[in-house]
Amino acid sequence: MADLTLDAVTKVFEDGEDEIVAVDDVSVEIRDGEFLVLVGPSGCGKSTTLRMIAGLETITDGEIRLGDDVLNDVRTQDRDIAMVFQSYALYPHLSARRNMSFGLEESTDLSQTDIDERVTEVASMMGISDLLDRKPGQLSGGQQQRVALGRAIVRDPEVFLMDEPLSNLDAKLRAEMRTELQQLQHQLDVTTVYVTHDQTEAMTMSDRIAVMNDGRLQQVGPPLELYHEPTNLFVAEFIGEPSMNFLSGRREGSSFVTDRIEYPFSETVADAVEDAEDVIVGIRPEDVAIRDEAGDDPAHEFEMTATVVEPMGNENVVHLEFPGETTGTEDLVAITEGMREVGENESVTVHLPEETIHVFDTATGEALH
Ligand code: ATP
Repeated sequence: MADLTLDAVTKVFEDGEDEIVAVDDVSVEIRDGEFLVLVGPSGCGKSTTLRMIAGLETITDGEIRLGDDVLNDVRTQDRDIAMVFQSYALYPHLSARRNMSFGLEESTDLSQTDIDERVTEVASMMGISDLLDRKPGQLSGGQQQRVALGRAIVRDPEVFLMDEPLSNLDAKLRAEMRTELQQLQHQLDVTTVYVTHDQTEAMTMSDRIAVMNDGRLQQVGPPLELYHEPTNLFVAEFIGEPSMNFLSGRREGSSFVTDRIEYPFSETVADAVEDAEDVIVGIRPEDVAIRDEAGDDPAHEFEMTATVVEPMGNENVVHLEFPGETTGTEDLVAITEGMREVGENESVTVHLPEETIHVFDTATGEALH
């Protein structure tokens, strides 16, 4: 068992005259047994990163290591790594059993009896014992994905790589498999790198999340650390649903000023942002508090109008606008508890507690506080 290390890994694709930097100087250490989820928008380099770890793509620069072994020039089949794809990639003419055993028969000198035993054991673990004689075409999407996962597990690899393995399943099945896969990973204790663009998967399944944008690693940390302490605007906006609210303005003295509001900073925040001019204040929807009447923090309370209210049962999503010229888009989104009814076009007092805000430098996007 060993850590998987990416050390300044870069991938450049040549496209005629053009060079596409798909992965740009990515360094991350994935600890033995860790479940790391790689997230980011389409085209940010997630799959390319995974494919380099698997050996399906050459590495332009940098090093990938498993323990002390450099993998760069090791052939795919000689890396102790199993990959699970979105498309399942099962052989259609082989039974589920053969799909699971095939790789082992090719790559190890285990006896057929040992292989059969392993397949039987993993099939039972995956709840597919009754399906082993069927071909992929006779299985549902969820069952095919179990076979694909089973095939990876049977190999007993050092590392699992998973590229959006649940994205072809319907919402209910995806939720079930999410929990199952997470339990399985803990039970097997195999280092896992899991690519997704599904927020919920990233937040709920991972030990740590690595956020990528434009080929570059933005931040790596436990889900709640990324949620509460995003290092820049990109991570702040990407992690959390509904997304963090952002107000654009400038720092004037120790206040934040926009076209609509003036918002005084405490000394701590003012000190942290004293060198910035244009800043963006971010606040999570659940930190935006709607009150019936003015409270005891008037400097951070504002009159707003609820423009759209989306009742979700346990909570409401309330879209709010500051008074003044209508921009057509809401200025803030708040999440309030379901019992608190807010009418559309109702005027409300909105509290933006200073201890919950984030401040970003508009020019660089870096978090200042
Ligand atoms: P998605 O979520 O849509 O799968 P991704 O984050 O996995 O996206 P990659 O597939 O890694 O992104 O692609 C990263 C960048 O590299 C993109 O700009 C893509 O167009 C480019 N790219 C990927 N493979 C190749 C290739 N074989 N040749 C040229 N460019 C490529």
